[in-house]
Amino acid sequence: MHQLTLAEIARGLADKKFSAEELTRTLLARIAQLDPQLNSFITVTPEHAIAQAQAADARRANGESGALLGVPLAHKDLFCTQGIRTSCGSKMLDNFQAPYDATVVAKLNAAGAVTLGKLNMDEFAMGSANENSHYGAVKNPWNLAHVPGGSSGGSAAAVAARLLPVATGTDTGGSIRQPAAFTNLTGIKPTYGRVSRWGMIAYASSLDQAGVLARNAEDCALLLQGMAGFDPQDSTSIDEPVPDYSATLGDSLQGLRIGVPKEYFGAGLDPRIAERVQASIEALEKLGAVIQPISLPNMQQAIAAYYVIAPAEASSNLSRFDGVRFGYRCENPKDLTDLYKRSRAEGFGPEVQRRIMVGAYALSAGYYDAYYLQAQKIRRLIKNDFMAAFEDVDMILSPTTPNPAWKLGAKNADPVAAYLEDIYTITANLAGLPGLSMPAGFVDGLPVGVQLLAPYFQEGRLLNAAHQYQQVTDWHTRAPEGF
Ligand code: GLN
Repeated sequence: MHQLTLAEIARGLADKKFSAEELTRTLLARIAQLDPQLNSFITVTPEHAIAQAQAADARRANGESGALLGVPLAHKDLFCTQGIRTSCGSKMLDNFQAPYDATVVAKLNAAGAVTLGKLNMDEFAMGSANENSHYGAVKNPWNLAHVPGGSSGGSAAAVAARLLPVATGTDTGGSIRQPAAFTNLTGIKPTYGRVSRWGMIAYASSLDQAGVLARNAEDCALLLQGMAGFDPQDSTSIDEPVPDYSATLGDSLQGLRIGVPKEYFGAGLDPRIAERVQASIEALEKLGAVIQPISLPNMQQAIAAYYVIAPAEASSNLSRFDGVRFGYRCENPKDLTDLYKRSRAEGFGPEVQRRIMVGAYALSAGYYDAYYLQAQKIRRLIKNDFMAAFEDVDMILSPTTPNPAWKLGAKNADPVAAYLEDIYTITANLAGLPGLSMPAGFVDGLPVGVQLLAPYFQEGRLLNAAHQYQQVTDWHTRAPEGF
C-alpha cells in the first residue's frame, strides 16, 4: 500500500479498496520501522492521525468525496499546527506549540487530509543539506551516507522512502526543488503569493513560498490544488483564481517553446548532470517542444545578492525570538539584556547565528547602500532577464543542481561551498517565479533533477510539461533500495 501515489490512493479510497484508517496505520507502522534510519520526522502524531483518518472515513461514508479526503501527509515543521509542536528545526522553538493552524494546514485539514506528523528541516529553513537541524541530520534514502538536500530534507526523505505519498515544503532559495532533485522526487515551488504564508514561520519573507514534494507531477497538481488560493491574512497573497491543475496535465506539448539558458551550463556543472539534462531536452523535443537557446546574463550575481537579501530579512524576522515571547529562555538571567543575549546565543544554532550577523551587518547604517541596496538592484536585473526571456519562450529548462547529493559532513567546514550549490534555484525566488524539479536519471546511483521555470502563475504549464515528460520516462517511478 505504501507504494501508492496520491492519485492512486484517492482512487483506492473512492473505490473502497481500503480505508483511510487502514492506510494511516500502515504508514505509521512504516514510519516507526524505517524512520530511525532517516530521521525525517521531528514529531509523529499517531493518535491525531488516526482520529483524522476515522473522521475522513466517516465523511466518505456520508457521501463526501474529494481527492485529499483521507490522504496521509505530513508538514515541514515550520507550518504552525495548533496543539502540535512547531519547532522550525530549532532549539529555540523546541517547546513551541502554535495557538493556531497555518492557512496551508487549515486548508488541507478541511479537505480531509490526514497529518502523520511534522518533518525535519534545516533550522529556520537555512541550509541545503538538512544538516543544520537541532534534531540531527536527515539521511538520503538513496544512500544513507549522503544528504537529502535542504532545507525541506525531511519532507524529501520521507516521500522518497515511501513513508508518505506527499509532503509540504517551503522554498526560499531552492528548498523544495533541490531536495526533490537529490531524492528523485517532483517538487514545485509556486509563484510568490500563490500559496498563503500565514502561519509559516518566516525565514526571508520576500522569498519564502510553500509548495509540494511528491513522486510525480500528477500528485503535485492534486496537493497544490488544496493549498493554493488567496488569503486575506497574508498581505502578499495574490487574489488570482486558481486553475484546475489536473485538468491540463494531459495537454499536448506541441509547439511549447522551451528556453535553455547558456549561463546554466558553465563551469561548476557536473558533466554527467549536463548529460542527463540533455537527455530530458531530447525527450521533451520528441513530445513536440521547440528548444531555443537563451541568455540570463545576470545569473552570475544571484548567489551574492541572495546571500545578502535572505540573511537581511532573516535578521529582522528572527529578532522576535528574544526569550520573552516565544520558545527558549536561558536559565537564571542576570537582567533583561542578559536574557536576550543568552536566550539567542543558546537557542539558535551556528548557521542561524551566522546569517543573523551577516544580515544585521548588511542592513547597518554604514553598509546598507553598499550591500543591501546593491543586492536589491541585482534582484531587479535578474527579474528583468527573466521577463525578457519570457517574451520569446514559454518555459525555461536547466539543471536543478550543479552536483548530486554530497556526503554528510562534506561541506560543514565551508558554508560558502554549500551556498554555491544553490546557483540554479535561487534566481526563481529572487524573481518570484514558479519552478519545478523533476527526476531525470542517476549519477553514481544518486538522483538528478531537471528544473523547469515558467512565467508568473503558470504552475499549470510546469505541471503539464512534467506530467507529459513522465509519460515517456520512468525515472520518477524508481524507488530507493530497502524502502
Ligand atoms: N539553501 C538556501 C539557504 O540556505 C535556500 C534555503 C531555502 O530555500 N529555504 O538559504
